[in-house]
Amino acid sequence: MINEKRLIKTFTDLVKIDSESRNEKNVASYIEKKIKKLKLKYKFDNSKKLTGSNVDNLIIYKKDNNSKKFFVLSSHMDTVVPGNGIKPLIKKNHIESNGSTILGADDKSGLAIILEVFETLVEKKYPHVNLEAAITTCEEIGLLGAKFLNYKLLKSKSGIVLDSTSPSRLVLKGPSSDYFSIDILGVESHSGINPEKGISSIKVASEIISKIKIGRIYKDTTLNIGKIKGGSAINIVPGKTSIQCEIRSHRESVISKILDQIKKNIKIIEKKYKKINPKFSIIFKKDRIYDSIDISPNNEIVKRILKASEELNYKTNIVETGGGADANFFVKNKINTVNLGTGMREFHTVDEKLILDEFITSANIVLKTILL
Ligand SMILES: [Zn+2]
Repeated sequence: MINEKRLIKTFTDLVKIDSESRNEKNVASYIEKKIKKLKLKYKFDNSKKLTGSNVDNLIIYKKDNNSKKFFVLSSHMDTVVPGNGIKPLIKKNHIESNGSTILGADDKSGLAIILEVFETLVEKKYPHVNLEAAITTCEEIGLLGAKFLNYKLLKSKSGIVLDSTSPSRLVLKGPSSDYFSIDILGVESHSGINPEKGISSIKVASEIISKIKIGRIYKDTTLNIGKIKGGSAINIVPGKTSIQCEIRSHRESVISKILDQIKKNIKIIEKKYKKINPKFSIIFKKDRIYDSIDISPNNEIVKRILKASEELNYKTNIVETGGGADANFFVKNKINTVNLGTGMREFHTVDEKLILDEFITSANIVLKTILL
């Protein structure tokens, strides 16, 4: 079993270090100091010039020559805003912030668990699988650390990301996500003197939007129109309006079908206004954010986690998520990676909490999972 007091101390130490995305350097230094003391091998990859962070991703190694297996544990060092000057308050059953900031349990609870597992292995000398840890940057701004991680530094073909709510939830399935934007280039004119000459891009945007279904489209598919920007003054028929959206689905074919339909509608609308003024146009752009994950329940890492949980008289269930995490990029790089909860709740808000018994259970599940 892990050392509960030390686990909580590591967590509170970590959240007191400011590390909003791209400013993870001081957290990396804290971890580096700890793993140097434990005499563990580690490497920084060369990702910071690609992520824009002030530090690289950090890879930690602990070999056990009696095992041929390699597993990787992962969590991210960055937090969302407001994440500076966090003062953790330890209550009877949970830890919270003082209400003026987030707590940073997302994802310092995961980091604390990984460090505690290493400390326990060094202290107790338990036999274990060859262990790697990928400590990433910039997760909260588009999974950038995991996206640009140097995967040549990892031998693992299985892994656990610790970046979800409760250890009663083991995420094996998650959606793909695409970003798309629609730029409407209307025709500007003076709205009082010659409105007839203009084509309002805002009005056309509303036409396009009225044809897009949003929210939960199917059980495994969601679409959101997240941002809209247009117009320059109240006395000018607006020239340009931009709409920015996101679509997620567990099925690629559904994403293509929905986007094709949207493009078709746009073409019809564009044709209609081009007849009025050939200068009118609509530009559709799309970009992949991350690919879906779909890990088999028969995968060894899954079986090991469920067994470990059972041995602790705890029930972990296999679930799906609508969210994305570093796991999406690990899977893309051929590492079968699941996401196990750490006890965090209400993350990305100032009401964020860490449930203590779940936090400790999650750490013990991870430890048991990687023991021989
Ligand atoms: Zn997170």
